[in-house]
Amino acid sequence: MIQKFDALILGGGAAGLMCAIEAGKRGRRVAVLEHADRIGKKILISGGGRCNFTNIHCQPENFLSANPHFAKSALARYMPSDFIALVEKHRIRYHEKTLGQLFCDGSAREIVAMLEEECRAANVGIFLRAKIREVSRGDEFTVRTANAEFSAPAVVVATGGLSIPKIGATSFGYDLARQFGLKIREPRPGLVPLLFDQQDQSRYCDLAGVSAEVVASCDGQQFHEKMLITHRGLSGPAILQISSYWEKSLPVNIDLAPGHPTDSLRGPKVPRNMTALRSELRKILPTRFADRWLEHHAPTALTNAALADFERQVHGWSIHPSGTEGFEKAEVTAGGVDTDELSAKTMECRKVPGLYFIGEVVDVTGHLGGFNFQWAWASGAAAGRAL
Ligand SMILES: Cc1cc2nc3c(=O)[nH]c(=O)nc-3n(C[C@H](O)[C@H](O)[C@H](O)COP(=O)(O)OP(=O)(O)OC[C@H]3O[C@@H](n4cnc5c(N)ncnc54)[C@H](O)[C@@H]3O)c2cc1C
Repeated sequence: MIQKFDALILGGGAAGLMCAIEAGKRGRRVAVLEHADRIGKKILISGGGRCNFTNIHCQPENFLSANPHFAKSALARYMPSDFIALVEKHRIRYHEKTLGQLFCDGSAREIVAMLEEECRAANVGIFLRAKIREVSRGDEFTVRTANAEFSAPAVVVATGGLSIPKIGATSFGYDLARQFGLKIREPRPGLVPLLFDQQDQSRYCDLAGVSAEVVASCDGQQFHEKMLITHRGLSGPAILQISSYWEKSLPVNIDLAPGHPTDSLRGPKVPRNMTALRSELRKILPTRFADRWLEHHAPTALTNAALADFERQVHGWSIHPSGTEGFEKAEVTAGGVDTDELSAKTMECRKVPGLYFIGEVVDVTGHLGGFNFQWAWASGAAAGRAL
């Protein structure tokens, strides 16, 4: 027997659930089809289990997309304050950790429970373990799972990106977009640790765990945050942020002494010898990293010119990553369904009326810090209000 709805939402993650709630509240009969055994799995593991659910400083500039204007409309119509109001309605306690990032005081489970309760109140049907076999379009859309068949005039694809396949990420959304002839911007890992090339790996990886405040820059973007040395390369917020902009051929530039004048290591008060230089560098960087840095980048002489060159390197360590840790470790997938295919107001496909794409599957990728959830809520709400 075919089960009929006004809208079928494929994927019960952040975007799909928000879309279902908004459409359900407006009286639409909505079904969420989720292939996992529970909804919101990624929300549960987000923000170290505390879910960084939004960012109060959210701006269109916090997102990457081939069309930087695309996200503006949805973001303006569902703001961080809208989600905060929902969180407060459910009496979930939260705090600002840093840089506008809002986290639950307790657990990410509270956010999932909140969304579940909102779905119940809006009469949203949730079908778990619904592995989708086929989506076809006649007068309406028909979606077949292993043991059921659904039909509706609208289908919303909210199946997310490729990050963390072990908790259920699939290429389903991209495959479906291709099936309907839509353009895809090549999906790539974003917010992901970078791998050192062989030389830097042998020089620095035994310092795994050492961190420093840096400015990482690449492709005209820069982030002033912490960097962490790992067993294979670099991570930490500054590196995760810049990784979303990194492409294979590009170097990543790292200022290891942000805020320090470019002549602080050779001022009149610093004696001209290696011991003094080492102790000055140790004031800027953790001791082990400072010593190792000097081992490999020592000035060729103690002349003004050689010291100036040494300082230029401290302020501009150029690394050539051999790659990233890939989708297994990426917090997000950059690229996705080309925004040219979608209405910025409703997320509906221009070529295929009734078909919508929302959340991470779309070529809109947030910076680290609650922006990806804000995009999921905002794009979900945009589609939910149009169904
Ligand atoms: C470890 C980690 C931590 C993160 N922490 C944060 C954070 O603190 N703040 C932040 O803003 N962002 C964070 N993110 C990013 C954020 O989780 C995602 O951007 C966001 O969840 C995307 O929402 P979505 O609904 O588009 O996709 P998802 O949340 O991935 O949901 C997609 C859903 O579709 C289901 N699905 C997939 N394929 C199918 C299929 N074929 N059939 C049926 N269902 C399917 C999946 O099981 C999943 O439930 C984190 C990501 C990771 C991996």
